[in-house]
Amino acid sequence: MNRRFTIAVPELVEKARSGDPRSIGRLISLVEEASPLLREVTQALIPHTGHARVVGITGAPGVGKSTSTSALVTALRAQGKRVAVLAVDPSSPFSGGALLGDRIRMSEHVLDRDVFIRSMASRGHLGGLSWSTPQAIRVLDAAGFDVVLVETVGVGQSEVEVAGLADSTIVLLAPGMGDGIQAAKAGILEIGDLYVVNKADREGAHTVRRELRGALALSARAEGAWQRPVLMTTAQDGGGVVEVVAALDEHAAWLQSSGELVARRRRRAREEVEAIAVATLRARWAQLREASLLDSLAGDVADRELDPYAAADQLLAT
Ligand code: GDP
Repeated sequence: MNRRFTIAVPELVEKARSGDPRSIGRLISLVEEASPLLREVTQALIPHTGHARVVGITGAPGVGKSTSTSALVTALRAQGKRVAVLAVDPSSPFSGGALLGDRIRMSEHVLDRDVFIRSMASRGHLGGLSWSTPQAIRVLDAAGFDVVLVETVGVGQSEVEVAGLADSTIVLLAPGMGDGIQAAKAGILEIGDLYVVNKADREGAHTVRRELRGALALSARAEGAWQRPVLMTTAQDGGGVVEVVAALDEHAAWLQSSGELVARRRRRAREEVEAIAVATLRARWAQLREASLLDSLAGDVADRELDPYAAADQLLAT
């Protein structure tokens, strides 16, 4: 029997809100599967959302994202916050469970009920990251987490997409990750609210920071705008992470006082509506293509009995 017909949405949402990790996980699986139940799920979740702070963490593979995420979780837990981690891998075809096994560095948090860690695959999704990530964030927000950390592997467009979804975005760099101009890559200078040079214990960290500061100064912002800090960490032993949390708090306060929080959340809503609409149109289009009408219209066009504009009109009119 198809599983989706056995799920009672109100019950599942209630359990997720009480912090039951399995129910939270199932709701995120519904997002991954693009389940038709999501419409009902979303309606049930919305009244309970708006509380969580969404923090994006992005950077090239190997800079220390998962180590830093884990260290951030520790620091936030020390403040009594409930923390969810959503690791989005745009290049991976695997869903939650499969990737989770790799996340050894998160293992210290596994037994903590106030920490929820989940990987999410998005490749092959009709709507892509901008469709699935906000929905997964909504689940975690409704489940009462104070902070949702969204970790993405930096692969060009995906990090930009995720930056658009977060309230605050941390761009992570590290020495020895290729040429010093890595910062200029993929619009990294545009997307960060906080820049963190990790592996401060390694040679070259100060050079990366200097170059980054130089690059950021070139696109300096007006007075009153958020001045993007460049911090240094040794995520491996938690060094500098408290300062990152403090900078996140400062950014959160600035978001509130400047009105930017409202603007960002509107932008996020706009992107989500757009992603849902486009995915719906695509699905409809796929149905139209399957239908025999296209074949018969194509025949008429090939036989010059119908012009292609009129044929397209007829197709869209169905
Ligand atoms: P990710 O691919 O960006 O998630 O990076 P990981 O968190 O998996 O870290 C990549 C490697 O860098 C691992 O071997 C980590 O142990 C190491 N690493 C992480 N943080 C530090 C650090 O502060 N100093 C040093 N020397 N190594 C680190």
